[in-house]
Amino acid sequence: MIRLFVLPLVVLLGVLLAAPAQAVPAQEQTPTGEVRTQDLRIEVRDGPARDQPQSLDATLYLPARTPAPAMLLAHGFGADKRSVAGEARSLAARGYVVLAWSARGFGQSTGQIALNNPDYEVADASQLVDWLAQRPEVTQDGPGDPRVGVMGGSYGGALALLLAAYDRRIDVTVPMITWNDLGQALFPNDAATGALPAATPAVGADAPDGVFKRSWASLFFGIGTRSGSGQAPDVCGRFLPEVCAGYVEAVRTGREPAALASYLERSSPASVANRIQAPTLLVQGENDTLFGLDQADANARAIASGGGTVAVAWFNGGHDGGSPDARTNARISAWLDHYLLADGAGTAPPTEFTYALPSGVRSRSAPTQRVVTAPAYPATAPRTGLALTGDEQSVVSPAGGVPGSISSIPGLAAIAGGATGGSGGSGDDEGDDGGSGGGSGGGGSGGGGGGAGALLGRLAADLPGQAATFRTEPLADRTIVSGSPQVRIAVTTTGTTAPGAPAPTSGPVLFGKVYDVAPGQNGAPDTRTLLGNAVAPMRLALAPAGTQTVTVTLPAVAATVQAGHRLEVAIATTDQGFASPADPAVYRIALADRTLSVPEVPGEQTGGSSVPAGPLVAIGVLLLGVVAAVVIGRVVAARRRRRDLEPGGDLAVDPDLVDVPLVVRGLAKRYRNGFTAVREVSFRVERGQVLGLLGPNGAGKTTTLRMLMGLLRPSAGELRVFGVRVTPGAPVLGRIGSFVEGPGFLPHLSGRANLELYWAATGRPIGEARMDEALEIAGLGTAVDRVVRTYSQGMRQRLAIAQAMLGLPDLLVLDEPTNGLDPPQIHAMREVLKQYAGERHRTVLVSSHLLAEVEQTCDHVVVMHRGEVVAAGEVAELVAGGQVAVAVTGDRDRAVILLRDAGYAAESDPDREDVVIAEAATEAERSAVVRLLVGAGVAVVGVGPRRRLEDAFLALIGEESR
Ligand code: ADP
Repeated sequence: MIRLFVLPLVVLLGVLLAAPAQAVPAQEQTPTGEVRTQDLRIEVRDGPARDQPQSLDATLYLPARTPAPAMLLAHGFGADKRSVAGEARSLAARGYVVLAWSARGFGQSTGQIALNNPDYEVADASQLVDWLAQRPEVTQDGPGDPRVGVMGGSYGGALALLLAAYDRRIDVTVPMITWNDLGQALFPNDAATGALPAATPAVGADAPDGVFKRSWASLFFGIGTRSGSGQAPDVCGRFLPEVCAGYVEAVRTGREPAALASYLERSSPASVANRIQAPTLLVQGENDTLFGLDQADANARAIASGGGTVAVAWFNGGHDGGSPDARTNARISAWLDHYLLADGAGTAPPTEFTYALPSGVRSRSAPTQRVVTAPAYPATAPRTGLALTGDEQSVVSPAGGVPGSISSIPGLAAIAGGATGGSGGSGDDEGDDGGSGGGSGGGGSGGGGGGAGALLGRLAADLPGQAATFRTEPLADRTIVSGSPQVRIAVTTTGTTAPGAPAPTSGPVLFGKVYDVAPGQNGAPDTRTLLGNAVAPMRLALAPAGTQTVTVTLPAVAATVQAGHRLEVAIATTDQGFASPADPAVYRIALADRTLSVPEVPGEQTGGSSVPAGPLVAIGVLLLGVVAAVVIGRVVAARRRRRDLEPGGDLAVDPDLVDVPLVVRGLAKRYRNGFTAVREVSFRVERGQVLGLLGPNGAGKTTTLRMLMGLLRPSAGELRVFGVRVTPGAPVLGRIGSFVEGPGFLPHLSGRANLELYWAATGRPIGEARMDEALEIAGLGTAVDRVVRTYSQGMRQRLAIAQAMLGLPDLLVLDEPTNGLDPPQIHAMREVLKQYAGERHRTVLVSSHLLAEVEQTCDHVVVMHRGEVVAAGEVAELVAGGQVAVAVTGDRDRAVILLRDAGYAAESDPDREDVVIAEAATEAERSAVVRLLVGAGVAVVGVGPRRRLEDAFLALIGEESR
């Protein structure tokens, strides 16, 4: 199973070239005989001075008849030349000489990943064109000028565009599901100050930087930071150091570092697309939260502005799942054939804009879709104005954007809808042909994008108090939305930040989205479906107080909204896929213009088709890729656990640990007076665990917890909370609820008022505090409404626990929480903590100097003594170890013999003269042991689990801790 999961993760982004496999549908292939292949190494020189030798691993696919036009096939991110083998063969069978190569930094090629930099990957590809110019098998247009096209998806798609811009010898290009501006894709900003409808997203020097799309970025960069096979682990993996440094900085700050911005600009077609003269067919996915339709739109506009020939096809798929449909594939084939095989003779293929429109009718077997053909693109689509209602609303932006709204999870659409495809794309660690084998899937349903997207759209959720919503009236007619709706909003910053907090460094960060709201039948609640599963993130100007009016360019989508449904615009303060500002804030949001402007590209339905079952392999592999991403914390992380415990580098986010509440590695603290309170402490806490940090006073527990809270800097080692390295003020601290120091409550206020005040300072709405649950757990009863001055120590302690639980944080950290509680309360705490962690997949870390308390309340334990970890493991295992201790009077040796005769491993307790120890892991076995002894006439005076932990603890630590 592990093998199955690992490959797809690696090719998650790379597999997208699987799509062009369908470009040459099997039935259209001309039977031109055997395709011959030749593995090669092609030596190139790159770098700013073209003086760095690189060796590229390539495969040449030769058709039956040569000379023939050539196609360069570029692979996706994380993959290599083998991932395009299927499409290479198909193209060769169609009559092309195909050259597939592994980009520098990938597969068996040398070099580091430079992200399609003109001096590196683009320079390399240009030298592949030089190489083709020397080949007798390739048709030549002139000296040094082969007839050649370039095609690729995602990473390969951007390479195709950049190569076409930098190398005039490229005769045709088909870039798929790729970016126009990588910086803007990873740090989007879809707000603009300006008026409808001409406003375009605020990209440019003077606009605030965008909002970090951290979920996709960590997948994207996570692939490159993994080391290549046979290489030592390295935090920067195969990235060029400046790229890695920029990414690490972005993760740390949630902002786009200036150096990274200018670097990404050079890697982006945005900077050069207007130079492209090669006829370009841009194929972009409608289910794509990584590179949205807006990216293809920007490429199309830039190419058209430079006089180039460009056509755009949207298909019902993309990085979130789904491959191009048969019509789109046929269009790709026709595009290439016209400009390469036919050398431009005959009628040029149409440049009309086509898009796939999910019909809105979902069937179990396959969602159907219509293909709509519009006369021209880019075109200024006519817009319909729909009246919106809704008053000004206050929304809260919680510290660090946590908890956050859910819009989509990278690639999840593939799971939501493609699951029926099932078995396609089993792979192995070698990454062989990840994207090939098109058409072999047969049977079953492709599942594709439309139905999947709709299903996923319903998973979207805005958190209460974190979104302002505005609705249209029920629509009189069915409406097709094709493109980006726009809305103008007024955002007022009320200037509320936590008392004493530093001035904010970011303007408001907001997320715009559009829901299709279907009225609930028979009193059922409305069903809201997030269109395109996409959000439009925006970072407004830093205006400490006052109102800003901005135009929001909502995500570009292709969707049918049925008559009687409403459209709802939501402006949310958080989104789990993006980084939010660390500082909490409150904003008021109103409509600046009560109109939702909806584009509709007029067109004719030129075909109805069901989503093809052909690209099953692609979907399957994508699906597995997503599954792999989702289970990364389990399967892959389990495999890497050993490596995790090695002292790590200083990558700010460890993608393997994003689902692990806490990993402590090699932690040490030496106080200024020279005293070392903690040394070499390593342990790991998983979701759902209640872990006790057990040790006598002075063991270093508090010091460790204070480092976890970002209150103390470690002298060595690190702590990672959900993969993020803890540093003072790190936003991830927002996921921890704690009390480490006795909190200072205001004595003249009631307990409840103290908690409300504390919560208000976090800037989050009171509803999110889950005040009643926290109070109930803490068991303060009616005392909660008395002033704190009258509280006993125990009550203050309980109030502090309630405070730590407010908002029900993912990781609850309690330092000696039972101090001041009486035994029944300690017992009650056990249920509280277990319920807190277990049922909700949250995690509790609790320190204590009392063994009995840890035994009662925790399922895992780390025992500390004199600053070091002396034992760790499951409490049950450490306590009982699958053994039962039976106290007998007299006849102990006989008891041992009786048990052994009955097949039990039994022995006399070396420490206690009247106790027999027997292996008995379960309750039933323990009873059987007792029954056996009693039945044989042995006087049993006591029975219980063998208390190994106690033995160990007391032996190590002594009576002081009893
Ligand atoms: P525990 O949590 O087990 O009570 P602590 O982490 O509080 O242990 O303390 C561990 C050791 O570090 C103790 O010996 C304590 O005296 C010492 N210590 C704690 N804080 C400081 C400090 N600020 N400077 C010097 N030594 C300290």
